Amino acid sequence: MNFEQILKQKFNYDSFRRGQKEIIQDVINGHDVLAVLPTGGGKSICYQLPGYVLTGAVIIVSPLVSLMEDQVQNLKSKGEKSVIALNSFLNNKQKQEILEDLQEYRFIYVSPEILQSQTVLTALSNCNISLFVVDEAHCISQWGHDFRPDYSRLGEIKESLGSPSCLALTATATVEVLQDIERILYLKEVKRHFNPLDRPNIAISVEKTASLGEKIEKLRMLVGNLQGPGIIYFSSRSMTEKIAHVLEDSGLKKVGFYHGGMENEQRLLIQQQFINNQLDIICCTSAFGMGVDKPNIRFVIHFHIPNNIESYTQEIGRAGRDNQKSIAILLFNSEDKDLADTLISYELPSALQIKAVIGYLNERIKLNNEEIKLSMGFVESIIQALDITETQWKFIHYHLEQKGHIADKTILKGYVPDCTVDYISQKVTVRINDKQKKLKKMLQWIINEQCRRFSILNYFNEVLVTKPTACCDICGLDYELYYRNETKEIEGPTFTDWRTELIRMLKSE
Ligand code: ADP
Ligand code: MG
Repeated sequence: MNFEQILKQKFNYDSFRRGQKEIIQDVINGHDVLAVLPTGGGKSICYQLPGYVLTGAVIIVSPLVSLMEDQVQNLKSKGEKSVIALNSFLNNKQKQEILEDLQEYRFIYVSPEILQSQTVLTALSNCNISLFVVDEAHCISQWGHDFRPDYSRLGEIKESLGSPSCLALTATATVEVLQDIERILYLKEVKRHFNPLDRPNIAISVEKTASLGEKIEKLRMLVGNLQGPGIIYFSSRSMTEKIAHVLEDSGLKKVGFYHGGMENEQRLLIQQQFINNQLDIICCTSAFGMGVDKPNIRFVIHFHIPNNIESYTQEIGRAGRDNQKSIAILLFNSEDKDLADTLISYELPSALQIKAVIGYLNERIKLNNEEIKLSMGFVESIIQALDITETQWKFIHYHLEQKGHIADKTILKGYVPDCTVDYISQKVTVRINDKQKKLKKMLQWIINEQCRRFSILNYFNEVLVTKPTACCDICGLDYELYYRNETKEIEGPTFTDWRTELIRMLKSE
């Protein structure tokens, strides 16, 4: 079979990128495959091409609705009609219609949440499934940087669908995460394809600043000069909005912001505007970018530090998918560590919150004769009533399930004993310690005076084979190579005026 021909015919590409063909070969031969390809390395083709060779459907589990919609549009633009996404965007009627005709689709994208629905599973089990794909498979591991409890049941779900061959894809996984993926997905006689993670066209730089004011000034200077389009990452939702306005006030046009607190539709719109070049700069939290397939992103700036090297690698990897020269700059001042620490502990529920949730559940159990259904509406009411985040709820839910208090994902059976509060709190401590260890490594990387590229690869147990000419700030880097031809005069107040403005901004944080 001539794969190159299919590649040209269906996707209009002339040749495979590193690693793709070998993965595709193993997938088509029906093996379970675990593949690591760098961000932008072209993981999608590894299941899309087999979709045209295998006889049955390809199911793709994808963690984000926006990412899924993007992939579906992309396939449609290439003339594929039998592609569909099953996710929370659909209303009941649409969902039902799709489920009735599910056998007709070649590519079925699903969110892990929707796979928890028995109706969806029944419809899927009536399809002839050739391949079960888990994209961004690191989300499966508790030790991954982006754990999603809903991912942890994917192995069982795959088995319940008759154990079709499985392809697990990720760009960033440490050894323990890779082991978790294989174990949790029940991969058998797995073919492993680990490709080098280095992206030689992305230069890496860290800039230390003495204060927040200096950092903002530096950012304005960089964004005023660097060739776009570019992404600027923040850890705080409100800062994405504030800095987007600051940049606009500086005379920069086409600046948008994006974070998890925005409505789904609005997020999708901003993402589309960025992809279609209607926006040039996007100020966002880590909620933006996973799988965003924009080839010409020229810079990624980190205004705040990511929590770990895995996230950092993923985020900077969004630059330069077209293999053209691009730059990643991380702006750092020592106070950033405190913010990162706070965010880590805030992500998970405190003992008080766990106690409150369990108290609330037990109260309901009392009213409802020993059993309650954790419907979406009920979950929303807990989240609102107790002022916890969805992530905190999911963590508690996951451990209640692990302890056997929840059946079928949604039925809480009987009283939850008080000792469960301690049990879940201990789990929180373990997770926080692990996250702090990872943050420490990130900070060490920032402070160390060692080649940035070498140390990132070293973290993933890889070696740096060839050092690119434009490597990193430690090896020596000329920013001007990344400047626009015509630089823009930055308007707006100078650093001194900024002090007053900053105080105002910080007060409203
Ligand atoms: P990943 O999921 O690994 O981050 P994608 O699958 O989204 O990457 O692909 C990144 C970009 O590379 C896309 O624009 C895709 O169309 C392009 N691409 C993938 N494979 C090839 C290829 N063989 N030749 C040219 N472009 C490719
Ligand atoms: Mg991808």
